[in-house]
This record gives sequence, C-alpha cells and structure tokens, in this order.
Amino acid sequence: MVFHRSLPVQAMDVELLTVGNELLLGQTVNTNAAEIALALSSVGAVVARATTVADDTESIRDALRVALARSGFVITTGGLGPTRDDITKMAVADLFEVSLVRDHHYLETLRSRFEQMGHGPMPASNQTQADLPEGASALPNPLGTAPGIWMEGTIGTVVMLPGVPKEMRGLLANEVIPRVKQRSGDLVIQSKTLRTAGISESALADALDGVEEQIAPLTLAYLPSAEAGVDLRITAWRLPSAEAHERLASAVEVLKPMLGRHQYHGAGVAESLLSALRKNRLTIAIAESCTGGLVCHRLTEVPGCSDVFLGGVVAYANDVKENLLGVPAKIIERHGAVSVEVAQAMVLGAQQRFGSDTAIAVTGVAGPAGGTPEKPVGTVHIAARVADSTTHRAVVLPGDREDIRQRSALRALDLLRRALL
Ligand code: ATP
Ligand code: MG
Repeated sequence: MVFHRSLPVQAMDVELLTVGNELLLGQTVNTNAAEIALALSSVGAVVARATTVADDTESIRDALRVALARSGFVITTGGLGPTRDDITKMAVADLFEVSLVRDHHYLETLRSRFEQMGHGPMPASNQTQADLPEGASALPNPLGTAPGIWMEGTIGTVVMLPGVPKEMRGLLANEVIPRVKQRSGDLVIQSKTLRTAGISESALADALDGVEEQIAPLTLAYLPSAEAGVDLRITAWRLPSAEAHERLASAVEVLKPMLGRHQYHGAGVAESLLSALRKNRLTIAIAESCTGGLVCHRLTEVPGCSDVFLGGVVAYANDVKENLLGVPAKIIERHGAVSVEVAQAMVLGAQQRFGSDTAIAVTGVAGPAGGTPEKPVGTVHIAARVADSTTHRAVVLPGDREDIRQRSALRALDLLRRALL
C-alpha cells in the first residue's frame, strides 16, 4: 500500500500516452512510461496520469483529447513506425485539425542516411516518416528512422516519441528533457528513502502519526516488502533544488527519532548486520529450520561476509536439531519443535558448535500445512545470542509459505542487528 497526500494542483502538468497492442496484451512491459516519468521528475515535472491505448487512431485521438484538456502537455510513445500507417501522427493531425505535410528537409536527411547505410535506395514506405502534422517540428532521432515530433497548438503540446525504448531514450534525453527543464526552471522532484525492519507497515504508520503535517509540503510513502521491511520514501515535489535538499534533510531529522532502532542503513538488513558485527569484531553462526538456509543465503549474498560469517546448520528434522545442535530431545517432546525453548536451545547450540561470538536461530510453521490452533501457520520463534545473553521473539507472520520464510529470515537478521546496537 502506498499513500500520500494529494499533490499541489500546479504540479500536475504532464500526461503520458503509451500506444501499443503489445502493452495491453501484457507481452511488452511498459518501461517507456517508467523511464519518462523518472526523467521528468528529475527536472521538476510531474506525470499526473499515464494512459495506454491500442494501435488504433480513434483510441489515440480520444485519449489525447482528454489528456490535453486536463494537462495541456502530453508525451506519447509508439505508433510512429512506417509499417503501422503512422497512426499517432494521424491522430494528432486530426485533433489539431491540420493535415500531414511532407518535411522535405527531413526527407533528404532520411534518404542520405539510407544511402550511407548501403541498403540501396530508401523504401517508399519510409517516405511517410517525413510527414508531420502541419506546424510540427521534427526532433532528430539518430538511432532510428522515425523522428520525434513536437507539436504545439492552441489546445496544447504533444510530443511524439518512437516506441522502441532505445530511440525513445535518446530523444527523451537530448530533445525533451532540456526543453522541459527550460520550462520548469530550477524546480526538482527529489526523494529520500529511510529503511526500517522489524515493524509492520500499520504499526509504523501509528508510530508516525501526525508526522505528515510536520514535514509538509513533503510527502511520505510506505513501501513494504517481505525481503527488506518497510521503506519510507519522503518526496519533495517541484521545489528549487536547494530548498528540496534542505527540507529533505530536516524531514529525515524529524523521522529518525521516531524510527529508533527499526531504522537500518545500507542495501539490506544482512549488510547492516554484517557491518555491525565487523565493527564489533564479532563472528556469527546460524541455526535454521523453517527458513531452510535462507538466513545463510542472505548473509552470503553480501560480498566479503567471510570475515565474520562462520557457517550454519539447516536443522529441519528433530534428530538433526538434537545431534548437530545439541537440542535436548525432552525439550522438543515437551514444547514442540516450534517453541521458545527450542529456539533458545538451537541458538546456544549454534554458538557452541561453531565457536562463534553471536548466533541466530529460527524455527517456525511456514505452512500451508502444519498449523494448529495454538501454533497457527506463520508462528515463528527467533532467538539471537550475543556472548552469553539470548534475546527471543515470537511472531505470527502473514502471507504464504514464501512470504513467511522471507519475513522470518528478515526478522531473524534484524533481531541480532538490534541486539548489537
Ligand atoms: P517502429 O514501428 O518503427 O518500430 P513505433 O514507434 O511504431 O516504431 P512500436 O512499433 O509501437 O513503435 O514499438 C516498437 C518496439 O518497441 C516494440 O518491440 C515494442 O514492444 C517496444 N515498445 C513499444 N512501446 C513500448 C513501451 N511503452 N515500453 C517498452 N517497450 C515498448
Ligand atoms: Mg506499437
């Protein structure tokens, strides 16, 4: 779930229209929209709405009409190729009530490019690529044959870019962004992300109650994931860059004390834990059951972990918990494999058998089967040990088997990370 306050009205000034049946069929991912939105935000322009329509003149024209009425500035991609009747241009010409006229200068440029490529004379179908709505100008596209097209009229501005991502990207960077930047002055849209673990999105929202008023006009978005916890993204919208920078820095200062130990730094909790271990010159060993090696995987994903990570045991069967970790059989019998007692015995066993300074143990019910009324699916016991002190957490995690395993690994790494603070 992502929620933020409504944007200032003057910020809603660009709409995107991506054209392509392949986009609607789900065969092509709409990377153009994401790239354009990202590039525009760096120069202070907000994409207020993005629409996708089929390769069909009428659909394009209708979508363009309403988008222009709302924002006055629309960027399109796709439908400019020679094989599809240049439908986007036709729709624009229709809407602006002009005809397509041949740009002879561009036609000559195209012709000489074909000759240089040594493919013989330019195919007749390419000639139409030099046809532009009357009053429009061609934006050079050195990577392809369809030019970008900039069309301005009384009803607004339409910038047409090719669908091919590489060509779109070149035109965006070289032709579109500099012009948008000129219009928006020094304004930027800038974000900062604070990372948290060990707290749910809703608990975090409760803890941060009232903070959105404090940091206004900056906005706050919650971005949760099973692998990384909840990221908090603070965004400054259309502010002069120095002011955006300053306001973001002070918003961070407001949020920091509210996040407390839940905040971590770096690419992930594993990385953050490893650097804490390194700083304190401590080694770590792992004992895991329901996560099946995921905790070790997370640690060993981080390059250079070998200086503190000694190893781990996947102790799935009770026998293995007993024989490799020294968990007493009677504890398992009395309390069950998913229990505080077993988690504590596992973490102790890992620390002793590996001879490490710290250890983590995880045992839980990942589901979908195996849940009971007392221990429903998602019940996980985590223990962290530093020297001779053990910390334990019992949680009931939401989600399917994969989510529960991912969240268990995250919680386990985070428990030790916080124990070291
Ligand atoms: P041309 O017909 O000359 O290739 P065009 O402007 O008509 O150019 P399309 O035919 O619509 O573009 O798309 C060309 C290629 O670009 C296709 O492979 C298509 O999947 C890809 N593409 C089109 N639109 C997008 C988009 N929004 N995001 C990512 N890829 C896209
Ligand atoms: Mg297309």
